[in-house]
Amino acid sequence: MEIAIIAHDGMKAEMVQFLNKNRALLEAADVKLIATGTTGSKAEKAGFKVKKMLSGPLGGDAQIAARVAEGKTKMVLFFKDPLANHPHEADVNMLIRVCDVHNVPLATNEASAQLFMNSIQR
Ligand code: PGA
Repeated sequence: MEIAIIAHDGMKAEMVQFLNKNRALLEAADVKLIATGTTGSKAEKAGFKVKKMLSGPLGGDAQIAARVAEGKTKMVLFFKDPLANHPHEADVNMLIRVCDVHNVPLATNEASAQLFMNSIQR
């Protein structure tokens, strides 16, 4: 199962913490992680295997949206920073819309991401 992870700058530490907390579950469920560039690098440093797209502001969110549209990515965990402005807001909204179009689960905060994780537990 391919799952996309994305974290805005203010949320990257939380994302790494979340991944570490769910490491055993991710491995047991044979999850293939994909990520926007910088989020992916942070996850790699924490020891996760990740397929990296471009950095979010350079089109990484759009690349992930394309994979959702193609049916490759089955879930998106997006730790959005609600207190910051982002130059690529249009891409973020596009990703959210594409997830809705294709009925792909999208978590935009850690609490919902954790519920999603619990649901894929084998
Ligand atoms: P990043 O992109 O992982 O490359 O920082 C995330 C984003 O801001 O969409």
